[in-house]
Formats: sequence, C-alpha cells, structure tokens
Amino acid sequence: MRRHISDGRETRIEGHAWILGTHSGRFISTCTEGNEGRFVADLIRPNCEWDEVKIDLLLLPFEKERVMNIRVSPNRPRDCWYWGFDWDIVYSVKMAYAMLLCSEALATKPNIAARVEGEFSKCSFCNSFAESSLHLFRDCRVAWWVWEGLGVEGVMEEGGSGVRDWVEVCWKGTVESKYGKFMVGYWALWELRNTVVFEGSDIDPEKVVRRMMDVLEEGDGMGTVAEGDVVGIGVVSRDGNGAVLWGLSIVRNQNWDPSMGEAVAILDGLQEVAQRGHRNVEIESGCLMVVEAL
Ligand SMILES: [Zn+2]
Repeated sequence: MRRHISDGRETRIEGHAWILGTHSGRFISTCTEGNEGRFVADLIRPNCEWDEVKIDLLLLPFEKERVMNIRVSPNRPRDCWYWGFDWDIVYSVKMAYAMLLCSEALATKPNIAARVEGEFSKCSFCNSFAESSLHLFRDCRVAWWVWEGLGVEGVMEEGGSGVRDWVEVCWKGTVESKYGKFMVGYWALWELRNTVVFEGSDIDPEKVVRRMMDVLEEGDGMGTVAEGDVVGIGVVSRDGNGAVLWGLSIVRNQNWDPSMGEAVAILDGLQEVAQRGHRNVEIESGCLMVVEAL
C-alpha cells in the first residue's frame, strides 16, 4: 500500500511508503537523521511547490526526480492510502476492505451512526466497548481468539492508537507472501461481525478459526477473483452532511478488472442521480486510476 500525497500533512517522510516508481515506495538516501516524525508537508513550500533545497539535502537525484513529479494541491482530498498497482498480487474485495479499514471508512457502528440516525455504538462481539476499528480487529476478546487461533503473534500489541499504523505494521511480512495470515484473520473477523449483525449468528471463534485454516490451505489468503465472471457494484449516495440518501447494488455477469468495475459503478451511480433529479454532485471513488482519468 502507498500513500497518495495531496498536501503531505498526514504522510511521514520516513516510515510511510509514498515515493512513486520505486519498489518499496520509501527513499533509500542515507541523510535520514532528524527526520523521524517529520511530515512530507515540510518539503512543500506555501505556494504548493516542492522545496528543492530541502529535497536536495534529503534525497538522491533519482528520488528527487520522482518526488518532483508528484502533483501537490491543497484542493485535493487529504493524503490517503491507495493500492499500488502490482502484477504479482491478485486484487480482491478483501484488499479493498483493508483499505477501507486503513481509512477508518468501514461500516463500523460509530461510522454508521455518523451517517444514519439511530442507536449504534457498542461492539457487535462483546457489547462492552465502542465498536472502533481497532477494538473490533485488535482489542476485542473475540479478535484475540481469532489471532491466537491463527497463530499470529504480536498483532494484539502493535500499532499504538492508530488503525493505519496497526495495519501497516501487521501488513509487513504478509505482503510478500500472497496468502497473508493477517488478511485472512482480518477478513474472517469482518465476516463474523457481519453475520452477527445481519443474521444474528452466534459467535463461534473455533468455527471461524477452522474456516480460516481451510482458506489458508486453499491458498485463498489474499482472496482471488470471485468464481465465474461476476462483478458486484455498490453505490452509496449521501447528502451534504454525510447522511445516507440511498444505495444501489447491482450484480453484473462480467469479467472486468477493478478499474473498469469502478468506472461502471460511477456511471451507474450517475444514471441513478440523473433519474432522481439531483444537481451538484460530488463523486468519491477509491480507484485512483479512475479518479485521475475523470
Ligand atoms: Zn468487543
């Protein structure tokens, strides 16, 4: 995963992967002393141009060239995570949900409460703590059962208070192997949580762990493309305050790549928007390729 720079205020110079066109996304220059905790915004001048003097002190010439090619603008959305295009990894819905987790955009109860009126708050598993992403996937006792069952060590202690840092730490070491246990555990917890919420299922961590082991044996850890040529499209419409107005879910028998699916989702959404007579519409998409093409 990489950081997409808009104003650089939420991306660390060191520690985050943000340099385009390099394998790791991190710089390899040796002049790193004193950079701990500094943000990319420190390298950007008030007029939104890169500060070449600072960059010359910090980066190697080829790194500088790549950084200078990153467009900076305070008008773009905040710095965010995105998926670097990688031929070695099969893009999947699970990965998209991992990105939502990093962006604190999963439909956890506090996030739903911000959009829809109603009584939401407590963890769907333990009903004791607020259902934050970190609680659901790291701190809840059900999460412990799952991580321990999977034999993943250290996940519960990592990450401090930020979900992004937690995911990034846990992600390391799993991204090299296609079938990362972190992704399997994360996905299993999210599935379990949703069956508890929507189907009223009992929480049976042993069953979950058995299923995860099957998934790992099948080699589907990162999730492969769904069987058959099927694409699921989802569109959510919100008003200016973020409250949900309507949603759209369409299944199409196609074998599109994710960017094509995203582009069609935008088209479907806009057609619905036109039918409903909305004016002044902003489009949000998690697919950088499509956003830039638009
Ligand atoms: Zn809990």
